[in-house]
Amino acid sequence: MHVRTRFAPSPTGTLHLGSIRTALFCWLYARHHEGVFVLRIEDTDRERSTEENVQAIFDGLDWLGLGADEGPFFQTRRFERYGAVVKEWLEQGKAYHCYCTKGELDELRARQLANGEKVGYDGRCRDRQEPREGVDPVVRFRSPLDGEVIVSDQVRGTVVFDNAQLDDLIIARSDGTPTYNFTVVVDDFDMEITHVIRGDDHLNNTPRQINMFRALGAEPPAYAHLPMILGADGSKLSKRHGAVDIRDYRAQGYLPDAMLNYLVRLGWSHGDQEIFSVDEMVRLFDIADVNQSASAFNPEKLRWVNQQHIIAAPTARLGQELVPHLEALGLDLSSGPDPVQVAEAFHERAETLHQMAESARYCFEDFEAIDPTAVKKHLRPAILEPLKAVTEKLSSLADWSRESIAEAIEATAGSFEIKMGKLGQPIRVAVTGGGVSPPIDVTVQLVGRERTLARLNRALEIIEARREGQQQSGAS
Ligand code: GLU
Repeated sequence: MHVRTRFAPSPTGTLHLGSIRTALFCWLYARHHEGVFVLRIEDTDRERSTEENVQAIFDGLDWLGLGADEGPFFQTRRFERYGAVVKEWLEQGKAYHCYCTKGELDELRARQLANGEKVGYDGRCRDRQEPREGVDPVVRFRSPLDGEVIVSDQVRGTVVFDNAQLDDLIIARSDGTPTYNFTVVVDDFDMEITHVIRGDDHLNNTPRQINMFRALGAEPPAYAHLPMILGADGSKLSKRHGAVDIRDYRAQGYLPDAMLNYLVRLGWSHGDQEIFSVDEMVRLFDIADVNQSASAFNPEKLRWVNQQHIIAAPTARLGQELVPHLEALGLDLSSGPDPVQVAEAFHERAETLHQMAESARYCFEDFEAIDPTAVKKHLRPAILEPLKAVTEKLSSLADWSRESIAEAIEATAGSFEIKMGKLGQPIRVAVTGGGVSPPIDVTVQLVGRERTLARLNRALEIIEARREGQQQSGAS
């Protein structure tokens, strides 16, 4: 069989992690089977659908590399087709006009509730022969009255629904616009979708959709309903659990492949492997391995997965990805090292690109003050002479390479008979303002000659002032 899947978001909100996980599974399944991945924008809710949300869907999928093979199709551009099906079904008696007023339906509902009956339309217009004057009718699907619909869900297993429980749903409103469950069926049919993979909040729609498929004279596609993603507190994942909009993750410096890696594990597993490249996911993914139970979103694990991808990523690419994050901090890139070099130096220790940019700030701009605890601990009078000597040595270096910097520091430490680290740490504190950075020769090289010398001189002044202070307090 030639597999065709579709991602069918409604652009009524932002593209959130749950939707992306659905898109990813659809995409992976299509890729794995060398099939076709269709993108369909379900924008029939015109009041809540916005251009901006549509654009966010495109941007998000694009960023993640989940490109569609067909589409985007827009449901609002297919109204003619839906209208034609409605007309055909009316002619064939598969659908009928319903003239019930809101008042009547409210009354029906109140009565059903009072009698403890199932709430739903009772089909009173099914056999109506005459139109009602002055009422614009809706169109309802004539749902089978008995029998059952068996959904062989590829994740949930067999789920059986009684037709008696399904009422005749509205497929076209009184203004003629089609409704959600109906447009989905016409589209899945026309687009020859073989596998509908979506969130399990749609499972209850499935029997209705299968009945409509049959009304089209077609066999329904296979269905796979994905378990929900929950927040750490066990409730449905939402804004309350922090960012759910994919744009936020992009802005924070998560790598697209890391996002996909993290999301694929929400519901799917392959042994106990945690880190997957996209190629591996494509090779290994199967719907049969999707878990039935809901999975919890864990931002800490997402950061860890991101870090693993940052460590493994080619630094040339990381450097490119780092640029917007450096810029977002207001740093002037022309006044610092090549971002690729920064990525090389910092990629072992950053959970996000934003964090990486933050830690590299001192390579691009001066900092106000050195961390006072670091001053206290590392800029002591005892290190004044070695630090002076190394400053001098560095200032006369012919080339500002990592090797010559390392040599200068080692030679100075050697001549004062102190360990490399005893000198390295004060240099680090002086040039970065804190006690943590990449290896000292790499750090100094990145910070550059001018800034390094200025910062070392400032540190020397701090130490001198400190020594004077000590002498004075000693003398008094
Ligand atoms: N448009 C629906 C949604 O965004 C998805 C419909 C479907 O996948 O069948 O929830």
